[in-house]
Amino acid sequence: MGKLYRKEDLIKDLKEIGVKQGDLLHMKVSMKAIGNVEGGAQTLLDALLETIGPEGTLISDAFVSVYPLPMTPDQEKIIADDLAFSYAGAFANAMVKHPDMKRSRHPIQKFAAIGKRAEEFCYAHTYESGGYDLLDKMSVAGGVNLTIGEKVAGVGTTHVAIDILGFKRKQLNTGALYKDLDGSVKLAKVNWNGGCAHGFPKFIPLYYEKGAVLGSGKVGDAIGLYTSMKKTLEIEIETLKNNPQFFLCDDKACYSCQMTWEHSPKKRIKFYFNWLKKNFKTLSFSRIKTLKKTIS
Ligand SMILES: [Zn+2]
Repeated sequence: MGKLYRKEDLIKDLKEIGVKQGDLLHMKVSMKAIGNVEGGAQTLLDALLETIGPEGTLISDAFVSVYPLPMTPDQEKIIADDLAFSYAGAFANAMVKHPDMKRSRHPIQKFAAIGKRAEEFCYAHTYESGGYDLLDKMSVAGGVNLTIGEKVAGVGTTHVAIDILGFKRKQLNTGALYKDLDGSVKLAKVNWNGGCAHGFPKFIPLYYEKGAVLGSGKVGDAIGLYTSMKKTLEIEIETLKNNPQFFLCDDKACYSCQMTWEHSPKKRIKFYFNWLKKNFKTLSFSRIKTLKKTIS
């Protein structure tokens, strides 16, 4: 059993990294990496809200699942609303359950926000504004990334950089149902780039090298990284301009990175070979059917 962390311990760690009153924070958190927290994700959320105070704003992605189209009858029963569960983990869902939480109006890329500017950012984020436009707006407004845990998927502005540079990819045929303002149920198809986030942490050494890191240190057992969103975005744009493959992950069986982008290697036979090799043990008819349905 490791150390038991209490709210006061986490507040001390957050302050040491540089988190302060009035911060506009974009969060990516691995609770598992932090270790044993008394009260779990709710305690970390309380610690953060106390550290940034009433002038601060906390924003986390709290996206909801999409499904290959056409959906199965069971999937058609799932209709995301503002309180919908997110696959983004325990911390994101603790935010969703908070009484002061606002959720972005986007039907799928539903950020959760608490604090002074929560309403403003969530209201502006819609299906029409794009999947990651909220992060672009945060970087302009002086936002700061706080990532806790080494394995969290980068800082998020990488998605904005990819959009700004106009990288193209083959859209996966997926979507989800949601309730429109007038109460009618509609289908939102995935129309943003998204992409595999396993390659995004490759940028982290560059953030250090090029001055995006405002602070770093332990949060519980995890590494906390506190970076300027404006700077991380600048570094990502500059790097990807010179090397558009930089954000692709190293997994040769990753369909998203190997096959879907205009800059992907797209070696079809090699990809299927690697995919089969990786998935051999868990291979089933339904898995192959899902892969086929997603990519066709
Ligand atoms: Zn990948």
